[in-house]
Amino acid sequence: MANYVFLGAPGAGKGTMAQLLVEKYGHVHISTGDILRAEMKSGSELGRQAKAAVESGALVSDELVAAIVARKLAEKVVRKNGFVLDGYPRTAGQAGLLDKALADNKLTLDAAVLFEVDEELLLRRLTARRLCQDCKAGYNVLYLPPKQKGICDQCGGKLIQRPDDNIETVKDRLNVYQKQTAPLIDLYEKKGVLIRVPGSLERDENFAALCRHLKI
Ligand code: AMP
Repeated sequence: MANYVFLGAPGAGKGTMAQLLVEKYGHVHISTGDILRAEMKSGSELGRQAKAAVESGALVSDELVAAIVARKLAEKVVRKNGFVLDGYPRTAGQAGLLDKALADNKLTLDAAVLFEVDEELLLRRLTARRLCQDCKAGYNVLYLPPKQKGICDQCGGKLIQRPDDNIETVKDRLNVYQKQTAPLIDLYEKKGVLIRVPGSLERDENFAALCRHLKI
């Protein structure tokens, strides 16, 4: 099974595309954002350490997220099913730590997928984004509304807005992306594994484009 890193700004569709890929092919979905939010919700020490950065749209320390990812990559199912890393790496330091974790686990990267979306659409998408508080299914009040307002189609759970999806924090997160994460595009291009995929289409069209580019 193949191993992928998903790159792209917040709102580019990394999480949605990862979920679709996982449903179809069974990869292990490793979303550092999801893991951090779960740790915060459970009130763990790790969650407490991450809270201030996550709520303000800043980045959590490289060491903290790298430790989470290294633990996940060591799981047996990762070698068997392949993985999609969603939202990691986000800094040059994390990219170096990822190389080490891959080498430690005798894993290689098949592609770094960059979802390209212009900033205006990112802003509209992020502020209209909702997710189910129970099953975490993603919706968008503009582009992918639930059948019944505020209610998850899949499990009937309540739809909520992520606290960091408010306009001010979204702008900060986009700045952080430009400064700290966008330089990784060059890095993966030089490694010869970068694949650019348009991310501004509708969900199913985006997924079809992704599969075409990955030749799967
Ligand atoms: P996401 O769900 O990917 O948008 O991530 C939500 C928040 O979690 C980010 O704004 C950061 O505060 C934190 N976070 C997620 N992944 C990372 C990472 N690789 N490095 C540092 N912070 C992260």
